[in-house]
Amino acid sequence: MPTDNGTILIVEDEWKIARFIQMELAHEGYTAVIETNGRRALDRIMQESFSLILLDVMLPDLDGLEVCRRVRELSGTPIIMLTAKDDLDTKVQGLDIGADDYLTKPFAIQELLARIRAALRKHKAGSPDGAGPELSLKNLVLLPDRFEVLVDGKPVELTKKEYDLLEYLIRNKHVVLAREQILRTVWGYDYIGDSNVVDVYVRYLRSKLDEPFGQKYIHTIRGVGYVVKD
Ligand code: CA
Repeated sequence: MPTDNGTILIVEDEWKIARFIQMELAHEGYTAVIETNGRRALDRIMQESFSLILLDVMLPDLDGLEVCRRVRELSGTPIIMLTAKDDLDTKVQGLDIGADDYLTKPFAIQELLARIRAALRKHKAGSPDGAGPELSLKNLVLLPDRFEVLVDGKPVELTKKEYDLLEYLIRNKHVVLAREQILRTVWGYDYIGDSNVVDVYVRYLRSKLDEPFGQKYIHTIRGVGYVVKD
């Protein structure tokens, strides 16, 4: 039965946990479907549209981090990672590759439900996939429908690549993005290995935005990549 919240995909190879979550979600009025294998889950995500993905880290065939990384190349669907590992590295890695949130098993179902509501709210407040409502960062507004950037209401000329990079950063506001991840998403696989191009374009953006407008939009995370913050 369709609901306003759409369908949640549960990717979890422990069937009992998956079924338990599915029943709890159904009880809350969500529709939830289960995949127990990373590769099959990714295939399904490519073909169907989900409102949110609950993604276990340890999965057969393709692990959750890799599934998350690949999903983020094509969509901003909210992802909550689930893992048995209470390990900071995995958590940081998951958030770096674009997961929205992270929950360590075993968790209380009430907490999971609260995180799901928060992730859906945040996604709704932001922008759906593709063009749509404007995106903002401090006094900067990005209009995806028109490929335009305004600072304090005044248009700023950006090249297509500068615009793409800025849009990707803003769509992932407050998420630290690794150079390689930015490279893959904005430039594509042909550029793999040449992450200097990211630094070069960040410099271009700073020279057109930060310097003229006396703001700091793009923060460097040493040894990792970049993040934009309000
Ligand atoms: Ca697992």
